[in-house]
Amino acid sequence: MGEVPEPVRFAKVGRVRVVEQKLGRERAWGMAAGNTIWLDERLRGQRRLEVTLHELMHLLYPHETEENVDHAGRLLSRILWRQGWRRIESGAMSGATKK
Ligand SMILES: [Zn+2]
Repeated sequence: MGEVPEPVRFAKVGRVRVVEQKLGRERAWGMAAGNTIWLDERLRGQRRLEVTLHELMHLLYPHETEENVDHAGRLLSRILWRQGWRRIESGAMSGATKK
């Protein structure tokens, strides 16, 4: 098991609002504040999974360092991806029904 250097403060997060938009001006692929996470709408695949988990980690552990949140996001996304978790892209679905 990994080392836990000090008591971790865990935020009680209820409903999470996920906002998808282009985040070019913020120079980030994701952001988190309060009970909201923002994801750049251009994110796809494993990177999208990683950024989603990263931003959720920020909500759950608001006092945690960027380094640790980054590590957790990478670890969780890598394991889930290896387990075969994938997002069904809405574009791909509509593409499948149209000719
Ligand atoms: Zn971050």
